Amino acid sequence: MNDRKNRGIIIIVSGPSASGKGTVVSRALAKADDARLEVQLSVSMTTRGIGKGEVDGETYFYVSKEDFEKNIAENNLVEYNCYAGEYYGTPKDKLEGWLNAGSSVILEIDVNGAKQVLEKYPEAVTVYILPPSFQELEYRLRSRGRDSEEKIRYRLAKGRDEIPEAHWYDYILVNEIIEESADDLLCVIRAEQSSRRHIEYKIDEVLATYGEEQEDQQND
Ligand code: 5GP
Repeated sequence: MNDRKNRGIIIIVSGPSASGKGTVVSRALAKADDARLEVQLSVSMTTRGIGKGEVDGETYFYVSKEDFEKNIAENNLVEYNCYAGEYYGTPKDKLEGWLNAGSSVILEIDVNGAKQVLEKYPEAVTVYILPPSFQELEYRLRSRGRDSEEKIRYRLAKGRDEIPEAHWYDYILVNEIIEESADDLLCVIRAEQSSRRHIEYKIDEVLATYGEEQEDQQND
């Protein structure tokens, strides 16, 4: 138990492409300070091309296939997956540092990656972002104007296959209004900080102070 002391929490956020999870996460991060929560975002590595409005090093680290495969070989990734013919993975370096410093870390990754992370970090918290409907999902995919018709069909079919996996997530947020979903995500993080599995070590810490109050009185 002691090795878990004051460690940050891993929050895995998954959801179909265009469910709005990226926006929910970035709004939650923007509000985290006001909510007095220390939360970091793990920036993934990908081989897919950079999209409209995306920033290298912020949205993703955009790398070549060769570079990605080198990172796999050098064991630099906590998990990785191939999606729509492109690699996506979570870099290991920063994650452990943040957790040890007591900061929570959001990993925005797919269901496959979530399973890999849970094998290494079973205490991680899982949150699934559901779109209100497939009509809304298709509308959002088309309006961001990034994918070909073929890719849009692929992403919708992937969503149909993936959404049943939400059954094993700890929390499900139906993303109708971004700001509300962002607030809900922060509420999840706050609640999890008080969950027994994360703070049980405190019981022993408090018990260890028993007797100190009498000593204080005697010394007065
Ligand atoms: P997109 O191309 O829409 O940004 O992402 C496609 C899918 O890859 C999404 O389901 C997204 O959550 C997932 N993804 C993004 N980063 C990672 C990662 O580091 N690891 C894994 N396993 N999936 C990721």
